[in-house]
Amino acid sequence: MPEMLFDLPEIPAIPMTDGSGLYPIGRIFCVGRNYAAHAAEMGNEVDREAPFYFTKSPANAVRSGASLPYPPGTQDYHHEMELYMAIGTPVFQANADQAAQAIHGFGAALDMTRRDLQGVAKEKRRPWDLGKDVEGSAVFGDLTPAAAFGFVGPQRILLSVNGNTRQDAYLADMIHTVTDVVSDLSQYYHLRPGDLILTGTPAGVGPVKPGDKVSGEIEGLSAVVLTLSDPA
Ligand code: MN
Repeated sequence: MPEMLFDLPEIPAIPMTDGSGLYPIGRIFCVGRNYAAHAAEMGNEVDREAPFYFTKSPANAVRSGASLPYPPGTQDYHHEMELYMAIGTPVFQANADQAAQAIHGFGAALDMTRRDLQGVAKEKRRPWDLGKDVEGSAVFGDLTPAAAFGFVGPQRILLSVNGNTRQDAYLADMIHTVTDVVSDLSQYYHLRPGDLILTGTPAGVGPVKPGDKVSGEIEGLSAVVLTLSDPA
């Protein structure tokens, strides 16, 4: 067998809060506009019929606690605080019950975004990749087993920058529930262990700058923290 020409950087795995092990990251799906107040602040109508998605490369995932340089090519890097879920069993064309069974756990994530480049992409009807699939832009807190988290809805979801609260909502504010999202996404993909799904952000997104500490919390889950340093 020919040998690999080189090694790729390792993709971080996410610790389970129950000590059962590390959850490896396969694919990263993200839901757009899943909170009405956020859709409104971005000047968009909400589509209650079906969610829509974009993806991030697993190579751009980092674990909570990372300190990363402010990314290149933007003057308007934004925080988005999100609930993520991790798929635990293969699921395809799932109904709501099958979707619920397929969720292994939940955690807190950041969907960091070059908002200015996303804006250009929207205006020019181009893909969102430059705005969304930013190096180090998918930040994951530790993963809590679904059974330990319980019913998704009453938990508060919060984000602060340097201790000042910027985002504050409830998971029940999501337009498409976690099972709706898994069921819908599984119409298009054979979902499998390793797949992470970020479920959208509440209102209050905004810019960060070098030196900022971004802290996100969801009641019942581990926090997600990111510190920005000067551009590399
Ligand atoms: Mn988002």
